[in-house]
Amino acid sequence: DPKTMEKIVSLCKRRGFIFPSSEIYGGLASAWDYGPLGVELKNRLQRFWWREMTQLHDNIVGLDAAILMHPTVWKASGHVDSFSDTMVEDTVTNERYRWDHLTDEQRETKTSPKGNPLSEPREFNLMFKTHLGPASDSGSTVYLRPETAQGIYVNFKNVVQTSRVKIPFGIAQVGKAFRNEIVTKNFIFRTVEFEQMEMQYFVKPGEDDRWFEFWKAERLKYYEKLGIRQDHLRFEEHGPDELAHYAKAAFDIQYLFPFGWQELEGIHNRTDFDLARHSEFCGKEINYLDEETKERYIPYIVETSAGLTRSVLMVLSDAYEEEEVGENDVRTVLRFHPMIAPVQVGVFPLVKKDGLAEKAREIEMALREDFSTFYDQSGAIGRRYRRQDEIGTPFCVTIDYETMEQGTVTLRHRDSMEQERVSLGELGQRLREAIKS
Ligand code: ATP
Repeated sequence: DPKTMEKIVSLCKRRGFIFPSSEIYGGLASAWDYGPLGVELKNRLQRFWWREMTQLHDNIVGLDAAILMHPTVWKASGHVDSFSDTMVEDTVTNERYRWDHLTDEQRETKTSPKGNPLSEPREFNLMFKTHLGPASDSGSTVYLRPETAQGIYVNFKNVVQTSRVKIPFGIAQVGKAFRNEIVTKNFIFRTVEFEQMEMQYFVKPGEDDRWFEFWKAERLKYYEKLGIRQDHLRFEEHGPDELAHYAKAAFDIQYLFPFGWQELEGIHNRTDFDLARHSEFCGKEINYLDEETKERYIPYIVETSAGLTRSVLMVLSDAYEEEEVGENDVRTVLRFHPMIAPVQVGVFPLVKKDGLAEKAREIEMALREDFSTFYDQSGAIGRRYRRQDEIGTPFCVTIDYETMEQGTVTLRHRDSMEQERVSLGELGQRLREAIKS
């Protein structure tokens, strides 16, 4: 439902998840700023991926390469020559379209979706260029990286030589990427500046098909672990004419966004294309010596490439619900997995007086060591719960008169709205368990 998208955008703005970039100047098309809750959500999602990919898998190490790289990297990678889209313009409205996004009929009749004549198609390289140093001649041209992967390939030898990894092994990286997209739309789905979470897995040639299947399955499990609705996830295979210049096989994991099925992540068998090309362009051998068999070869690469910012939109869409909870009573709730919720525990005194506020503060201070908390003492308790539902806080703890007498608190669960009494001694452990699950 397209209305859902509007509601998500409006909630994001109202509650401080995501704002238009440079809004006081009227905004900048397709750039967005992450507010107090948005940055927490994005960081937690990134940490969830990082932990899953590095800590919970054998043989995957991390890297954080620079955004600016030697310009020859992008010649070797093929981006200078072929990272382009074909663009056409509506000659009446000047709206721009991607040629491959038009229907066959629109392409044949050269008519825009608005029914107007289209300009001649022209190729458009998606890389942003800038200049290193004061001279802006062509010799100083550098690019903002359009993908994080190349930073991993050019560091392949450094990592092998310094971290004792043996094939098969992976290198994971999260960082910004930039593409001068012809058409940006759908909020943070497609932007010119975005973040990727990529993992490049180096394998022995001949074992690539098996690892490709392995990573397809692993990545789907990851989304299930994150609690994403399974019927909103599917694989889509790239046909031969859709394959990127480097790829032997490619599957997308798609998610059913409010505006339809769209790519969330790509899993690609990039063969030895990248390492062979870098070897050729830098004039140095880039290969791997298997110490047991004494074989030397250029590894094949299986890549999993997910958008972090796009994943933020995915979890927002997946979590968003308007739930009827009584007669004429609808609550807005974001059902985030507790691991990624920007606020994990709301702490409220039932009333401010009789020392309840002080007690609640004291409990919040203790919980802060382990959880992200939010203290709120204003308004009716029901309204306070609803405010937390709307930003996806999975647990709320309420301090009342029984707390003072018996040392118990109310633990309120976002999803079921159920409330239970928990003793202060058990509270931390209960929350830890609930957040992990
Ligand atoms: P498309 O063909 O739709 O432009 P792509 O297939 O070129 O995308 P990849 O190069 O495979 O995309 O990028 C890997 C991932 O990076 C994507 O699955 C997506 O999550 C993310 N991504 C790519 N481009 C953008 C963008 N402009 N804005 C946000 N995320 C992006």
